[in-house]
Amino acid sequence: MGEVTANELRSMFSAIADAVTEHRDRLSELDGVIGDADHGITMELGFSTVKTALASNDAEADLGAIFNIAAKSFLNAVGASSGPLYATAFMRAGAVLKGKTSAGADDMVAALTAMAKGIEDRGKAVTGEKTMVDAWHPAADAAEAERAKGSPLAVCLKAAAEAANAGAESTKAMLATKGRASRLGERVLGHADPGAVSAALIVGTMAESLG
Ligand code: ADP
Ligand code: MG
Repeated sequence: MGEVTANELRSMFSAIADAVTEHRDRLSELDGVIGDADHGITMELGFSTVKTALASNDAEADLGAIFNIAAKSFLNAVGASSGPLYATAFMRAGAVLKGKTSAGADDMVAALTAMAKGIEDRGKAVTGEKTMVDAWHPAADAAEAERAKGSPLAVCLKAAAEAANAGAESTKAMLATKGRASRLGERVLGHADPGAVSAALIVGTMAESLG
């Protein structure tokens, strides 16, 4: 794909909503082990609300506005901790893409990095704390590294998706110091963080949809 436009972003959010719905039960099961078993439900609700909001804004061409609509809808729909985390991610991507009706590889990789940074800032988490940051941070790093080599967007996003998967897998060996799971001590060992698993699903779907 060459330049990303508003319609591609709408399709991307729609594909993420479908993927999250498909994996809803698995995500809630993971959250059942180390949290409160709602992660699949919250993510499905958040992204399906975004999908509906974007469908009713089908004339919007500004990529920044698309992400801002996503941020507002996600925040309104989701009361769980992932609500403000993803709302911040989308607002940051919106700031990067503000005023643009098409985005190339540099813009899209910058938007991905802004999303990861937004989640880290909002959650005050760093890698190694068994959260979605363990998928988002390496994903952004991998995309930036590919882009620095001059790779096209599809290659950057594929590298991001692989890094997010590896990051989600790595959370199995981590103790949790943020969020609900931090109360469980060593009982969380051997279990993946649901937010990191859904993050890998999201980045993977972005790669498939925009790649
Ligand atoms: P809740 O914990 O309120 O039920 P969810 O189940 O939707 O919210 O999301 C849980 C996920 O949110 C966790 O698996 C973790 O990845 C992520 N998370 C929780 N707190 C933080 C934080 N401070 N920073 C980054 N991610 C976090
Ligand atoms: Mg939960």
